Amino acid sequence: MPPQDAIWNPEVQLMPREQLLALQEERLREAVHRAAELPFWRAKLDESGLAPDDVKTTEDLLRVPRTVKDELRADQAANPPFGSYQRREGAVRIGTTTGTTGKPTLIAWTPRDLAVEYEGAARMFWRYGTRPGQLVVHSHPLGVYGGGAILTSALEAFGALVAPVGSPVTDEEAEKTIAMFQTLKPDQYMMFDTAQLKFWEAAERLGLDPVKDLGMRPRMEHPVLQSATGTAGAECFSFLGGGCMQFQGAHICEDYAVVECIDPATGASLPDLTRGHLVVTTIGRDNVMLRYDLEDIIRLNREPCACGETHMRMLWDGRSKDMLPVRGKELLPVDVWWVLEDFPELKAPTMEYQLVRRPGADTIEIRIEGDSALGDKIAAAIEGKLEVPARVEMVARGALPRPDFKPVRVVDEA
Ligand SMILES: [Zn+2]
Repeated sequence: MPPQDAIWNPEVQLMPREQLLALQEERLREAVHRAAELPFWRAKLDESGLAPDDVKTTEDLLRVPRTVKDELRADQAANPPFGSYQRREGAVRIGTTTGTTGKPTLIAWTPRDLAVEYEGAARMFWRYGTRPGQLVVHSHPLGVYGGGAILTSALEAFGALVAPVGSPVTDEEAEKTIAMFQTLKPDQYMMFDTAQLKFWEAAERLGLDPVKDLGMRPRMEHPVLQSATGTAGAECFSFLGGGCMQFQGAHICEDYAVVECIDPATGASLPDLTRGHLVVTTIGRDNVMLRYDLEDIIRLNREPCACGETHMRMLWDGRSKDMLPVRGKELLPVDVWWVLEDFPELKAPTMEYQLVRRPGADTIEIRIEGDSALGDKIAAAIEGKLEVPARVEMVARGALPRPDFKPVRVVDEA
């Protein structure tokens, strides 16, 4: 396939890097000036003795102090309801973050902010084979949380016909929705694992084959797909990037974001393919973030990509809060997932596992749904690959929780 057919916006996505970085810095200068009009960001610049005109390049940007989520929460508490880091004027949509890591924050989007999200989303949809005119079902949670709403409107802006169905609460609701799928014959289902599993099981209860009768696809779960999408959260940039068929990370929209990978302890930029914190500066928007540290663990990949896209790639490895320190190593759920990939029998219909974190533990402890006879083999494989002692507890299918949104991979126990 010629690259322009595989890509939504060839003019920007195939732009020579020099030209792309010039566009990025032009938008950065505007973003810093816009930010400096707001008390929160003004204080951040003052902290380093910077005037807005001092930040002209991505190099200069490194002098701006980082901001973390707790600071946004504190600012919203002190300056309710939106905080002093974003504008309410001109906003047409309110949402909140999911609150996975604490109290949710309120987000205000202007039409320009939403347009940036829609452009990022369109690049991702196109890569996944979605085309305008297709009928797309999605089950992302709605309510005040921005995710379901922004996905619906991004699909609409792209030109798809959207059926936002949410995750079913009861078996009856799941079965009614399945009947609707039979009539609608959707082209694509965008679902988190747990919601898909509920629909899948409902279809089977009704005597239907989810693949043949409804066009659903079994989950193609694989650790490389964890980096097929890149997000910086609803409050920063939901559709930060999308992965290409090279499966070496998500191409970041560098025309709308300056992305860094930094060592959280020293703040220094890390070399390519080294794990560090994701730090994002949004540009080309009304509400911008300067050096927002998401406390997510990523790697960056600046190698030219065979797909032709010139924007750099990001590999998402997990969240710093899910880090498991074991005998001097810092492990993430994805490290275990790579090992479990060698056991395909764990994957039907989804792979469910949890890491148990205990204070002072010197082994890695894992609960996995599946045949108890596999436990010892899995433990040996983990010890072989991750070089830490492993304790594996096999549990029955359905024993681990099935949240509607993100799976909980790490639990803390005494
Ligand atoms: Zn690529």
